[in-house]
Amino acid sequence: MDIRHWERWRPVLVDGLLILALTVGLALYLSLAIHSRVQEGLVAQEMARLQRLATLPQLVTAWRDGSDELQTLLSQEAAVLGGRLAAVSNAGQLRAVSHPAAGDGIPWASLPEVRQAISQGVAHALRPDPLTEEPALLAAAVVMENGRPLGVLHWTLPQAELEAGIPALWRPIGRAAVIALALLVALLTGRAIQTSRRIRRLTEVVERVTQGDLDARIHSLGSGEIGQLAQAFNRMADKLQKQIKKRGREKDRLNTVLHVMTDGVLILNRHGRVRLLNPAAARLLRVEPERALRRSFIQVARDHRIAEVWTRCRESGQEEVATMELTPTQFLRVIVTPFLKGKDRGYLVLLQDLTQLRRLQMVRQDFISNISHELRTPLASLQALVETLQDGALEDPPAARRFLGRMEVEVDALTQMVEELLELSRIESGQVPLRLRSTPVLEAVLPGVERLRPQAERAQLELAIHLPPDLPPVLADAVRVQQVITNLVHNAIKFTPAGGRVEVSAQAGEGELTVMVADTGIGIPPQDLPRIFERFYKTDRSRAAGGTGLGLAIAKHVVQAHGGRIWAESVLGEGSRFYFTLPLAESMPDDSAPPTDTALARSTSS
Ligand code: ADP
Repeated sequence: MDIRHWERWRPVLVDGLLILALTVGLALYLSLAIHSRVQEGLVAQEMARLQRLATLPQLVTAWRDGSDELQTLLSQEAAVLGGRLAAVSNAGQLRAVSHPAAGDGIPWASLPEVRQAISQGVAHALRPDPLTEEPALLAAAVVMENGRPLGVLHWTLPQAELEAGIPALWRPIGRAAVIALALLVALLTGRAIQTSRRIRRLTEVVERVTQGDLDARIHSLGSGEIGQLAQAFNRMADKLQKQIKKRGREKDRLNTVLHVMTDGVLILNRHGRVRLLNPAAARLLRVEPERALRRSFIQVARDHRIAEVWTRCRESGQEEVATMELTPTQFLRVIVTPFLKGKDRGYLVLLQDLTQLRRLQMVRQDFISNISHELRTPLASLQALVETLQDGALEDPPAARRFLGRMEVEVDALTQMVEELLELSRIESGQVPLRLRSTPVLEAVLPGVERLRPQAERAQLELAIHLPPDLPPVLADAVRVQQVITNLVHNAIKFTPAGGRVEVSAQAGEGELTVMVADTGIGIPPQDLPRIFERFYKTDRSRAAGGTGLGLAIAKHVVQAHGGRIWAESVLGEGSRFYFTLPLAESMPDDSAPPTDTALARSTSS
């Protein structure tokens, strides 16, 4: 039998056996009690028959007449009564027996019932028959004649004959007992099956809830104890579901926060194994989140300096902080805080990426050193010129004029630099308003180029303009775009030797216009190309050509404020191509719409 089956039926079986034992015990007791009562009744009945026989006149007569008559009578009566009859004289002598040889060897005078009958008139005993040794009713009654005892009539009736009628009495009682027992067992089994079915339903639902089906509930198990248990369980499941939902929401919120955080967060257990890490931490440590989980922090960090902060925190039991340069371009601040939650000790590791901050600091430092450097050259040459004049050149008017002319050039250069710096700072801080409106390309591009035509001619360069007539208008601030064009064309002229060519062209694309300024000049070394849009950046080869290194930085900010991009391509010694894009004015309903005011955005990228 299946063990679960056995478990289910065991209580029923135990109860059944108990009931069976009780019923059998009760039946036995009852049967014994009834048996003895019935037996008493039967004995009394038989004794009455014996007494009737003892007082029969024929018996007295036969007793007197002689042994043969007496024997004949006894035989006749024994045939009616059953058993054996014997006539015993007052002196204890056997006078006659119903059956031949039935009186042989029996000490009639000493038989207890005979002696008792002589003194009391009648007596009986239930004991083994002295002749056959079978249980029997041994009865004796005095036979009287005219008030005088003649002798004793002795009757031996086998118990089997005495109780011949009893089994018939038992049958209905036995049947009733069996029916009652069967009914009881059926009732109990039914109850047990019903209870077991309810408990099974309860167990099934409990198991479903345990496996995570929080919607599982028990329906209608009645109002009994099991019903109350089911209701209590349902209430508990409701509460559990609410709490789990609440915890789920809190977890979601925490996950969202951890997900969008730019700082890396790790939670370590007390052995330093990673229990949780957010995407920022995985990115900063360059690990796969799934692979990092459950591994030791030392393995995940793969840098002894980071691991050391945790080791220090573990030893001191206090928050430990360290800032480090992971690579020349990556700076990291590591903060490890221990936390205690009961016995559950752990550590919170916070990784802050300081790269951007450091970059800004370096940009600021660069800016200051660049500006000092840029100012030093014109100031030094101004100082030298002033000293020369003081040292006597003033006395030589033609030389003095020449020096003053050179001083003017330096002052102009300084003024230009200061103006451009001011311009750049105003653009960066968003103080320069941009008046965006639908502008024809010619209006935005042409004036800036034409302004430089005399300069190009002086430098003996060919200046070509290719603007297709059907170009759509752009959404731009014409003055600012001209500033960008002037800057690019001015550079092209500056860095192209005599006999070269500068070309300006434009082309409409998907939602934007691309303007190109190409030259056949000295070109830009590949390593400098990504940096030429930075403030003060100049290639070594262009140092001699003068300039502040701010023009392209300004151009970049202006183009970006328009929502465009700017970039350059170049082959050293062959020439350079500068491109920038502007959005087309397609989205504007008509040209008369009021111009949009926007400020040049602040940028921290250079
Ligand atoms: P600058 O005032 O020095 O011209 P820019 O910001 O306009 O400053 O240019 C930055 C640097 O980029 C220049 O110093 C030069 O080295 C390089 N450059 C710009 N345009 C060209 C060009 N057309 N050909 C070669 N080099 C160029």
